[in-house]
Amino acid sequence: KDAGDLKVFNKMESEVRSYCRSFEAVFDKARNAKIWDIEGREYIDFFAGAGALNYGHNNPAIRSRLVDYLLEDGVTHSLDMATKAKETFLKRFTASILQPRGLDYKIMFPGPTGTNSVESAMKIARKVTGRRTIVCFTNAFHGMSLGSLAATGNAFKRKGAGVDLPNTSFMPYDGYFGDGVNTVEMLDKYLDDPGSGFDLPAAIILETVQGEGGLNVASTEWLKQIQALCLARDILLIVDDVQMGCGRTGTFFSFEEAGLNPDIVCLSKSIGGYGLPMALTLIKPEYDLWHPGEHNGTFRGNNLGFVAAAEALAYWESGTFEKELADKAKRIEDALNGLIMAHPEAKAHKKGKGLIQGISFDEPKLAGQLSAAAFKRGVIMETSGPHDEVAKLMPPLTIETSVLEQGLAILKDSFEEIIQ
Ligand code: PMP
Repeated sequence: KDAGDLKVFNKMESEVRSYCRSFEAVFDKARNAKIWDIEGREYIDFFAGAGALNYGHNNPAIRSRLVDYLLEDGVTHSLDMATKAKETFLKRFTASILQPRGLDYKIMFPGPTGTNSVESAMKIARKVTGRRTIVCFTNAFHGMSLGSLAATGNAFKRKGAGVDLPNTSFMPYDGYFGDGVNTVEMLDKYLDDPGSGFDLPAAIILETVQGEGGLNVASTEWLKQIQALCLARDILLIVDDVQMGCGRTGTFFSFEEAGLNPDIVCLSKSIGGYGLPMALTLIKPEYDLWHPGEHNGTFRGNNLGFVAAAEALAYWESGTFEKELADKAKRIEDALNGLIMAHPEAKAHKKGKGLIQGISFDEPKLAGQLSAAAFKRGVIMETSGPHDEVAKLMPPLTIETSVLEQGLAILKDSFEEIIQ
C-alpha cells in the first residue's frame, strides 16, 4: 500500500518515455466503471482503457467464466491449433453477431492488438488487388506499426518512424472543410485525372467516427458514397472498427447505421471482453487467399481471449443492450449540450456519438484543463484531436446509470471551474 519512491506516476523509473499518460495515481483495483488507487481513492473511469473495457473492469460474468476455464485446466496458449474455446467463440460470434446482421465474413486472428488487424487488412487488400496504395484520411488513427502508421493522419506520430512512410494517400475526412465540400466527389475526380498523382488504390480505410482524431463523425450519406465509389471502381473498403466497434457508437459495428458492407473489418480493444489482448480481421470469404504460413504469428491463439470474448457476446444476445446504450448516450448528449449551451463564452462544441462523446474547445488547452480538473474530482478522461482540443468521454458501456450521472455531475463542476 505504498507508492515507494515512484516519482513520476504511470512512468516507473525504468519505463520508456514514449508513453503519454501520466495521471497522478498508482492504480490498484477496479470494478465496472470505478477504479481505485493504492491510497483507496475512488475514480469514475470515463477512459475505459481507450475503448478496451466496453464491458467494464472485472465484469463478474466474464470473470467467472475465465476462472472456471482456468480451474478446469483449459488450454491457454495454442497458436493456431484448434481448441474448444476457439470453436465456441467462432460459432457464437457467427451466430450472434454476423448472421443476424446478414454479414458473411471469414474470421482471422491476426495477432493480439488493433494494429495487427489493420496490418493484415492492408496486406490482404494489396494481395487481392495487386495494387499498392491505400487511401486514408486526415486525422485518422490506425496504429503504430509501419503499415498502420503510414495510414495514420497525424504528422507528429508519423515522425516516430524516422522516415517518410510509403504507399498511402490522404484525403480530407468528411466535414474537414466544414459544410459544402464533398470529399468523396473530390476523390472520384482525382481518380479520373491522370494529373492528380492518385493511383487506383487497393483499398480505402476509414473509421466511421475518428476516435483519436477528435471524435469526428462521418455522415451516413458520406459513408454510403464511399461504399458506392468502392463498388464502382473495384476498390476494397476497410472499416477500422478497433475503437468504434463492439458497441461504442450504439450498435455492435459502427457501420450498421449507414448499412455498409465493408470488404474487411478490423476489430480489437473490447472484442477480448475483459481487457485481454485480442484482435479479429473479418474478410469477405473470397479474400481468403493466403496459403498456410503466409500470415501467422505466435499470439493468435489466446484462449482466455476466446473465452472472455464468447461470454461478452451475451450482452448482444440479450436483445436489450442496444436500448440501454441509446439511453446512456442520450444522457451524455443532454448533459454535454446543456453545459455547452449554458456557457457560450467557453466556445465549446459537442463531438462524437453513442458512448464516445466529448467537448471540443476553440481554445485547445481548455480540454487538458478539463481533464485535469475532472481527475482532481475523481473522474478519469482523456483528450483527443490534432491539438488535443477535445475532452473525450468513453465510459464502459456497462456503466451503471447512477455512476454515469455522478460522473457527468463531476464533469459539469469541472467545466464550470475551468471556464471561470
Ligand atoms: N485503430 C483504431 C481506430 C484505434 O483507435 C487504435 C488504438 N487507439 C488502433 C487502430 C490500434 O490499436 P492498438 O493500439 O491495439 O494497436
